[in-house]
Amino acid sequence: MRVARKIALIRTIRLTVHALALVGVLVVPFDRWALLVAGVGYVLSMLGVTVGYHRYFAHLAFKTSRWFQLVLALLAISTLQRGVLWWAAVHRHHHRRSDRDDDFHSPRHGFWHAHFSWLDSPRVHALGHGLVADLARFPELVLLDRIYYVPALLWGLGCAALGGLVGALDPEGGPRALQFFVYGFLVRTVLVWHATFAINSLAHVFGTRRYATDDDSRNSLLLGILALGEGWHNNHHRCPSAARNGFFPGEPDLSYAVIRGLAALGLVWDVRPVPRHILEEGRR
Ligand SMILES: [Zn+2]
Ligand SMILES: [Zn+2]
Repeated sequence: MRVARKIALIRTIRLTVHALALVGVLVVPFDRWALLVAGVGYVLSMLGVTVGYHRYFAHLAFKTSRWFQLVLALLAISTLQRGVLWWAAVHRHHHRRSDRDDDFHSPRHGFWHAHFSWLDSPRVHALGHGLVADLARFPELVLLDRIYYVPALLWGLGCAALGGLVGALDPEGGPRALQFFVYGFLVRTVLVWHATFAINSLAHVFGTRRYATDDDSRNSLLLGILALGEGWHNNHHRCPSAARNGFFPGEPDLSYAVIRGLAALGLVWDVRPVPRHILEEGRR
């Protein structure tokens, strides 16, 4: 697909999902079960972003099997942030060029640019597989980069189907298929987008700096909670290869807890630690 068409498609998806989520929340009657589906879906798919896109595909912070790698990829791209090859290539580039002139999403080029309008830049979508040759060996991941919107559509349909089932059991409860679609898919997607985008924007502007990295990365408790551990972004820029972003007590990192859980189940292994000298440097 030509770059201009890719950008037009991405912009259309972004605007449409935001507009439908807003209209849906205003028009469709509120339902607490739909909100629960949105909450569970948020945590589950945000883990796809943090454990999948970020710590596994971009940083190879642990190892896993080919089938579980595919599970992580499907969960990640259900959030409509394009395929894992593209996401990992953009993010690896960010760590090489953080807050320099050619960083794709530095707040030094404007807050809203860093938050989402960087996605409209042609050079972001002209990235090849040069930075992700290790991942491009897997044909299933290459295919998913082309049809990244399919798992998200399935997520939306799954929410509507679940709502339809609940509605059949409880016909007095309201238009459950629509309610589950609006909250479980549209609202969830908007929330996951902004939690992810906030790491590129807010986490390079607001917060504290434990490590004197040569970029503007910050640590933030609020983003640490909302983005399931990704808010410890200054720690992360000091040691991007580690599976853990919250290095110390008082730095909640749900994604790392999940990685430890997956390791205990034997689904992932070789979880990369934070080297001791970096922990000691942080304590000082
Ligand atoms: Zn960063
Ligand atoms: Zn990173």
